[in-house]
Amino acid sequence: MPQAPAKLNAFPVFMRVAGEAVAIVGGGEEALAKARLIGQSSAVLRIIADAPEHDLLAFIAANGAVHIAAAYEAAHLEGAVMVFAASGNEALDRRVAEDARRLGIPVNAVDRPELCDFFTPALVNRAPVAIAIGTEGAGPVLAQMLRSRIDRMLSPSLGPLASLAASLRGTVERLLLKGNARRRFWSEFFGGAPARAMEAGQLSQAHGAAVDLLLSNAPASGHIALVGAGPGAEDLLTLRAHRLLMEADVIVHDALVPEAIVAMGRRDAERLPVGKRKGCHTKSQAEINALLIELGRDGKRVVRLKSGDPLVFGRAGEEMAALRDAGIAYEVVPGVTAAFAAAADFELPLTLRGVSSSMVFTTGHDLKGNSLPDWAKLAISGATVAVYMGRSVAAEVAGRLIEAGLSPDTAVAVVENASLANRRRFHGTLADLPSLEIRADLTGPVMTIIGDAVAGANFERSEPLAAHRHEGAAQTAAEGAER
Ligand code: SAH
Repeated sequence: MPQAPAKLNAFPVFMRVAGEAVAIVGGGEEALAKARLIGQSSAVLRIIADAPEHDLLAFIAANGAVHIAAAYEAAHLEGAVMVFAASGNEALDRRVAEDARRLGIPVNAVDRPELCDFFTPALVNRAPVAIAIGTEGAGPVLAQMLRSRIDRMLSPSLGPLASLAASLRGTVERLLLKGNARRRFWSEFFGGAPARAMEAGQLSQAHGAAVDLLLSNAPASGHIALVGAGPGAEDLLTLRAHRLLMEADVIVHDALVPEAIVAMGRRDAERLPVGKRKGCHTKSQAEINALLIELGRDGKRVVRLKSGDPLVFGRAGEEMAALRDAGIAYEVVPGVTAAFAAAADFELPLTLRGVSSSMVFTTGHDLKGNSLPDWAKLAISGATVAVYMGRSVAAEVAGRLIEAGLSPDTAVAVVENASLANRRRFHGTLADLPSLEIRADLTGPVMTIIGDAVAGANFERSEPLAAHRHEGAAQTAAEGAER
């Protein structure tokens, strides 16, 4: 039998307090906590405390609250719209609650639900937008958890955006009579160009974009966010990336982005996987560019999700150029790149005072040509080198670097599946590196870090690379050094 939904015993309402008096009785921590909460509103705080603690006094001074420095009397409550009994003294709080009730003023007594007419919520404040969370006393910890989760979801610019909306409401109602057009306007206002301008802190651009939107009957303009999904762990996603995922109409993602992160998108968002895992490209780069342009022209809000940081070996350059040429708006949201995640997994200082002061991001694929790329010289002069997509060229990288003069004893750290629970760490020297290529047990993405700074890493949880040393490849490397 279906259960009837549980009924609320306390119903949330928003009470008008602007300019009204709110009385708080008490001089300690409890009173200060309530003062801070109500201090987020434009109510006039009246604090009744004959012996306030230092922090409360400082709050009163800083916030222009009215301080009644006298022993409590019922008359102190008169004219208030809300009363807090927050003295920490049960008998006094009870007296305050009884007086308030007699005067017809709703009262809250701290930690005494039986004396309360109302409860205060955990509050997410994006004034004029407020989100109040109540649990009817079931769990302040639960309320705080929910509060911080919701707080993370909402852009700090939501408040100013809502204020701008309020200032435009009359005009919008005059100009856009029909329900549908009006709805479309607001949905584009809160999710489109005006919201993005506000997010970037550009109030006048936001206003301009809203006016443009109001005056044009043009269909909603699309927008592509090139978003870094980080190295794989869900909680290494940025808050901005998370927010955009929840607003997206379409999520276009690479194969390296874990399903759990793609799943964080809006439930009804369309999800389009576009490759590319080594050896199984599902779409060419030109096809991906064309897809993004088409989605943008259709007015879609698109998140183009790439692993790590979108600007590091992510072919974002080509996508941005295509979008620019097509006149489609886009933005870039950085992510934690694989090198940083691998370094963190190894507690490896990428720059190390007196040892390494520069860093190279490379693929190693450019070592295949005849001339040595410039970064090889940097490696020799002490730079820390992070090699992306380096597994299949491990022997080449080691051989050429040794040939160029880097010591075969240079420290090397390798992480497969950096940041994920199934990560594996390996350590060794440049001479051991070729063994990576022939290991059949490495199926996840692999990051290789080479340089003297690697010696500062923590090798307690890593296996020696040498255990799998590939004799042939190691020999090639050694011969290279002799030439
Ligand atoms: N834009 C991505 C890199 C894409 S290239 C970034 O900034 O991280 C793909 C390469 O990144 C892989 O071949 C591998 O070398 C590296 N990589 C990505 N995720 C990784 C992970 N979780 N662990 C180790 N290496 C990773």
